[in-house]
Amino acid sequence: MSDEPPRGSTSVPDAVDFPRLFDFYEIQSEDETRIHEFYENLDAGSLTTTECEDCGELHFPPRVVCPECTSDDLSYTSLPHTGTLHAFSVMRAGAPIGKVDDLPFVVGIVDLDGVDVRLSARIDDAEYDDLTIGDPVELKVVDIEGPDDLERVFYRFVPTDTDAEAGADA
Ligand SMILES: [Zn+2]
Repeated sequence: MSDEPPRGSTSVPDAVDFPRLFDFYEIQSEDETRIHEFYENLDAGSLTTTECEDCGELHFPPRVVCPECTSDDLSYTSLPHTGTLHAFSVMRAGAPIGKVDDLPFVVGIVDLDGVDVRLSARIDDAEYDDLTIGDPVELKVVDIEGPDDLERVFYRFVPTDTDAEAGADA
């Protein structure tokens, strides 16, 4: 858990011919979002989310009010950086603006290990045909490059290196 997750980067164009509304990455500063701590933690290499101090509910994505009991007494807690693929697909067309050059890419639903959190994310470093439901995956932190005035991060997952295991099976 203390190991630094692998880190990559992605970019969005400096000059955009579309309203920022279509930039699907949230502006992550404290002035713009009340879940800025989630992004600060992610930037520091830690996947976190909110947990309700009153009812104990673990949320994902992080919340500012507990959807179970409406308490706003929430705290950030670390999540595992590993999980398994619950489902996955490949995007071959219709990528968001700025991501068309990435096509095709894999998107997946990941069950994090040991907690009741299921999230969707891009699966990097993977071909659709090479993946199987139940495959182990691990967190990858992605720096979002551009527009210039923003510093943002997001999360993806990558298949866990199982070469040793594959060798043992062969
Ligand atoms: Zn609650």
